[in-house]
Amino acid sequence: MRIFLIILAVIVVIIIILVLLGAGFSAFFSRTTRVADPAQAKLNGQEMIKNAKVVVVVGAHPDDLEYYTGGTLGTLAAKGKKVIGVTVCDLGVIQATRRAEGTKAAKVLGYTPIFLGFPERDYKGNRGLTDAQRVRVRADILAIIKKYHADTLLAYDSADQAPVYHHIDHIRCGVEAQAAAWKAGIKRVYLYSSGNPDTTVDIKPAGVRKSQAIAAHVSQQNRTGILLARTLLGWLRPFGVRADRPTGPVGGSSESFRKL
Ligand SMILES: [Zn+2]
Repeated sequence: MRIFLIILAVIVVIIIILVLLGAGFSAFFSRTTRVADPAQAKLNGQEMIKNAKVVVVVGAHPDDLEYYTGGTLGTLAAKGKKVIGVTVCDLGVIQATRRAEGTKAAKVLGYTPIFLGFPERDYKGNRGLTDAQRVRVRADILAIIKKYHADTLLAYDSADQAPVYHHIDHIRCGVEAQAAAWKAGIKRVYLYSSGNPDTTVDIKPAGVRKSQAIAAHVSQQNRTGILLARTLLGWLRPFGVRADRPTGPVGGSSESFRKL
């Protein structure tokens, strides 16, 4: 009888811990997704999809475009807009594999992929983009904007980041992409992974393709950290974690941006 009570107590404590963790996760992820005026943000998103003609979207790594903007890219392409997806940092030992995966994902979503081949920041001593390389990144993006006569740019919000996962490559590529857009005179600039979004795009019609495009990055699916995080989130979901947060980078029914 006593052992039964002890087991029961342990189970209750574990449940309480899970609930608290779940609430904490939930609050944490909610911070990434606050939209001050949801109705206006929805209108802004519709305006973006309607009026963009040629869109250049810049990401640091081969799967960034899919995670942060896949639904928006799929929606734009389905509406006949020209979309060019630029991946800046993809130099590494599995570059050929990652380019093949990125190309497959681009095909699923319907955009033209361009890989610039700059080094990625890693934890084996590579510090990422040097100042000289950043100048070239900016020039390369500017050349692409001009070549395709782009009128809209999507890039990482390096000035007002969502409070999750601040990768130095993301920040630097966001800065250079915005600088290139400014130099090219692009008026329509939308920043993803923003801490202060004011534009939401309904991605439900493109949701399946977004999942398929993310799944195309096979080499990124089996990393222990991601697997652990996903498993944990899966466990915690019943306790308050909203894996369907509308503006989260992975799941959800919309993607959010801050319009410059
Ligand atoms: Zn990345």
